[in-house]
Amino acid sequence: MKNTDYIIVGSGFAAIFFAHRLIKNKKNFVLFSGEEKSASQISAGIINPAVLKKFTTFWMAQEQIDFLHKTLSEIEVYTGKNYFVSAPVQRIFHDENEQKLWLKKSEDTDLKPFLNPEFKKYDVIKNPFKTGEVMQSGRLDVSAFFEDMFDYLKSHHHLVEEKLNYETLNPIEKKYKNLGFNKIVFCEGMAVLDNPYFSETPIVPNKGHHLKVKLSEKIDENATFKKKHFLFPLKNGLHYYGGTYDVDQTQKNIDDYAVQELKDGLLEFYPDDFEIETVEFGFRPTVKDRRPILGKHPEFPDFYIFNGLGARGVLNGNYFAKHLFDFIEFGKPLLPETDLCRF
Ligand SMILES: Cc1cc2nc3c(=O)[nH]c(=O)nc-3n(C[C@H](O)[C@H](O)[C@H](O)COP(=O)(O)OP(=O)(O)OC[C@H]3O[C@@H](n4cnc5c(N)ncnc54)[C@H](O)[C@@H]3O)c2cc1C
Repeated sequence: MKNTDYIIVGSGFAAIFFAHRLIKNKKNFVLFSGEEKSASQISAGIINPAVLKKFTTFWMAQEQIDFLHKTLSEIEVYTGKNYFVSAPVQRIFHDENEQKLWLKKSEDTDLKPFLNPEFKKYDVIKNPFKTGEVMQSGRLDVSAFFEDMFDYLKSHHHLVEEKLNYETLNPIEKKYKNLGFNKIVFCEGMAVLDNPYFSETPIVPNKGHHLKVKLSEKIDENATFKKKHFLFPLKNGLHYYGGTYDVDQTQKNIDDYAVQELKDGLLEFYPDDFEIETVEFGFRPTVKDRRPILGKHPEFPDFYIFNGLGARGVLNGNYFAKHLFDFIEFGKPLLPETDLCRF
């Protein structure tokens, strides 16, 4: 029988950022990753401190951005790469009113660090009212991040490429097959709804589709364009365009109407021909109060949950992984807004 400090269940941002905490603190752990691509791997990886509908910001945006840079440089030490892509979000304005609103908001104390009051004009895309740049925004190189992190976990014997079977888990003896463990952290995204220990967690799946497209005319590679959805280049000559939002849709298939919505959204500002190469979808684990869910099981105190990252998997995943780690290891209280006990 082997023993480990931690089992992590999951392979998205929640699991991987929590794994980083364990690597940094030299803990033994094993991560079980299911076969399906996680929503995190489908995501655009946008890191954006502004809400681009109403031009506002959100809870602890600056702290989260700063902390992400800190973590990414720690990860760089062992993977040799920094996955932050410095290609700021350029919000394409619909009309003059939006420009005026942006300028007004850019003077607010909490938005000044994020909304650049100097507008830009780009070739190829339609932007008659120019674009507003979100300062400090960018992207995570999602595919390289997961590829390298999984390689690292594999080569350090942390990775078990199989779905954890809840029926085989013994919560009293803290055993899974021939593996004894001290603590188990469930980072399953929407699949938590199938987890008998945490199935009551109020996660609302929000389905998102994206396209990978081949553009006939090149666009500026140093920007992440946003009108209805985000458009940016990938390494293989394709571009990512997405994602859609569809609450409470749990069917695991491509929805034609979502593909149509994406095509129409892209046509609005990309005037040249494009070809769709692939369509993918995933489920954001969202919560009604828009706060993550961290905490422990009421009956099995070494069973933990890390979920509810919503539409901000990168920022929330990294920031709150540390909160959960400090709670487990040092008894540091969780923020009441994120504590599972709030429900
Ligand atoms: C189209 C789209 C675009 C998005 N764009 C962005 C963006 O630009 N920026 C951003 O920050 N966020 C974005 N998101 C949101 C982000 O993807 C989510 O917040 C994030 O994926 C949630 O991460 P997670 O780790 O909680 O869950 P997931 O990524 O869903 O990962 C959970 C994993 O756990 C595995 N699992 C479940 N049960 C088991 C088990 N029993 N055993 C083993 N493994 C198990 C699942 O297979 C899955 O791989 C986007 C999401 C979508 C769908």
